[in-house]
Amino acid sequence: MKKLAIGLVALIFSADVYASSKLQVVTTTEDLAALTREVGGDWVEATSIAKGSMDPHFVDAKPSYLLRLKRADLFIQVGLELEVAWAPPLLTNARNSKILPGNQGFLEASENCEILQKPTGQVDRSMGDVHPLGNPHFWLDPANGRIIALNISNKLSELDPSHAEDYKKNLALFQTRLTQKEKEWDRLVPELKGLKVVTYHNSWPNFAKRFGIQVVNFVEPKPGIPPSPAHVQSLIHQIKTEKILLILMEPYFDTKLPQKIAQETGAKLAIFPPSVGADKNIKTYLDLFDFGLKLLKNALSRSGEKS
Ligand SMILES: [Zn+2]
Repeated sequence: MKKLAIGLVALIFSADVYASSKLQVVTTTEDLAALTREVGGDWVEATSIAKGSMDPHFVDAKPSYLLRLKRADLFIQVGLELEVAWAPPLLTNARNSKILPGNQGFLEASENCEILQKPTGQVDRSMGDVHPLGNPHFWLDPANGRIIALNISNKLSELDPSHAEDYKKNLALFQTRLTQKEKEWDRLVPELKGLKVVTYHNSWPNFAKRFGIQVVNFVEPKPGIPPSPAHVQSLIHQIKTEKILLILMEPYFDTKLPQKIAQETGAKLAIFPPSVGADKNIKTYLDLFDFGLKLLKNALSRSGEKS
């Protein structure tokens, strides 16, 4: 009995040491958690608040997140006001000053990334939910993913200098794999170049720029504003006259209207993953691009068969 008790104590103690030896990282999105795992390897435990199938602008913050945030060593958000509706109140309620903006355990992933569509003039309500700091869906360009990984690696090294070499090594490995993948993806660019698509929300400007596709319009007339019948009619007209083949939509909008537009125009509607975890086969940041580009390529070859 005594032996068992000692064994149990040892087990509890070692489990505790094991748990606390890992840096606890909470991210807003699954993309950031995936990149944190690439760089942090065995030394971090990363969990995200929003799942990849959720709208990152509006996340229903469950109380269980507060517990995670309370214990977190590091909080990482996309930034550019993507999470402005829900992350600040969560951080305030978590009562963990380490992870508040401006403190060491807070990281904004957008630092040094290429940000598109920064509004030049005054931003007002009539423009819809326009982000005054630029389009916050910037992680959908692998060049920005490389910068985000570097930002995370620097931050992990700052918080946990004893494993700085490991973070550096993991970052280098990730970057090598990313470079190899980019060569593979680049071979698809000539095929995709100039492909015109309509998207539901303005989620893919960085992706479109990187891979040469053209987003000609949105199902939402302005970010966050529901489509009016007049907008839908003019969109249908545009899809027909410009012979747009594809409507891409995020997994978190109602498919009813886009489905109707697709039926009326003959365009194909595809759920296009904007994040890791948006489809069960997208487990890593590299999977995200593999999946999306394959989907576009298949849609193109199918439309070629038809004509
Ligand atoms: Zn958005």
